[in-house]
Amino acid sequence: MSDAEPLSAVFQRLIANYGPISLLHYMGESNARYYADKDPLGSAGDFITAPEISQIFGELLGLWLADIWMRAGSPAPVHYVEMGPGRGTLARDALRTMKRVGLDPHVHFVEGSQALRALQAQAVPQAQWHHDLGSVPTDAPLLVVGNEFLDALPVRQLVKTPGGWRERMVDWAEDRFRPVAGDKPMDAAVPDALKQAEEGTLLETCPGAAAVMHELAARLAAQGGAALLIDYGYAAPQTGSTLQALRAHTKVDPFAMPGEADLTCLVDFAILAEIAASEGAKWQGTVTQGDFLRALGIDMRAARLAEAAPHHADTIWRAKDRLINDDQMGTLFKVMGVTGPDWPQGAGF
Ligand code: SAH
Repeated sequence: MSDAEPLSAVFQRLIANYGPISLLHYMGESNARYYADKDPLGSAGDFITAPEISQIFGELLGLWLADIWMRAGSPAPVHYVEMGPGRGTLARDALRTMKRVGLDPHVHFVEGSQALRALQAQAVPQAQWHHDLGSVPTDAPLLVVGNEFLDALPVRQLVKTPGGWRERMVDWAEDRFRPVAGDKPMDAAVPDALKQAEEGTLLETCPGAAAVMHELAARLAAQGGAALLIDYGYAAPQTGSTLQALRAHTKVDPFAMPGEADLTCLVDFAILAEIAASEGAKWQGTVTQGDFLRALGIDMRAARLAEAAPHHADTIWRAKDRLINDDQMGTLFKVMGVTGPDWPQGAGF
């Protein structure tokens, strides 16, 4: 992929020939290119995620799944499904922990990037790969995890202009990409409550995240199982753009280098909960990552690890703080639980 034409040149040509492209198109193509051939994770990359900060993260999610699976009657066979598993670190930590308590599921990874599939195969050799949930087996309950997966899916933005609601598009002018309002009326796509919103109001939706939730919830309703979706996001509806770009752990202009920086948006957990319920699955709740990990005993687990490796104690405590403190990942990150309708209530919700 690295010898492909720069995405910036592709977009410029497209815009010159056909006019501005939608932000949805811009973000979707940018992230597809971004993830295709590199590993963006870790201190040498562009951003770091919870499972890369501490093994405790994957271990506690594994315990959560094992606990609810046992209380659901330990159904076998059962499938572990991870969406966007990155380097496979979370899965490796979760599967090791599950095995210790007698849960040894089949493993399925939903992953688009060839570069990351190669890393995942080293961490979890027995995994089977899928492009989407469609090919994941339908014969048994699913234990699903997605960490920082939904935030990478492209969003559509609508903006209120003096002439009504318009889709937010990306144009090329004066040597740079810049957002502009499209020329087609989009009022029909806006909920009644927002039709008269003041000029400049911005409504962001993520059709991809909604589609994933519809499919996942329908599967849980039909096959049984439980899912944990963890992402930075909001639990009550809001307006405004949340688009941001990260490169080398620094926020950069999302329009400066398409395909070269990770584009993300906050996840709208309010709408995802509604979608889950509409498909007959059970929404268990949406809580902050800090509260969730504390309820699962992160302090005790960190103390155990620090005791076993005293010379690493400082690192272990710092990593734990990073996952749960309010000024770090503890509050902005949310954990949403969804299960089949007959599955028990999970811990921490
Ligand atoms: N869960 C991992 C990685 C998060 S990065 C962690 O917490 O470390 C986002 C992950 O989702 C990457 O593995 C990326 O390749 C994958 N991904 C992003 N968009 C995708 C898509 N449309 N289809 C499949 N996988 C996608």
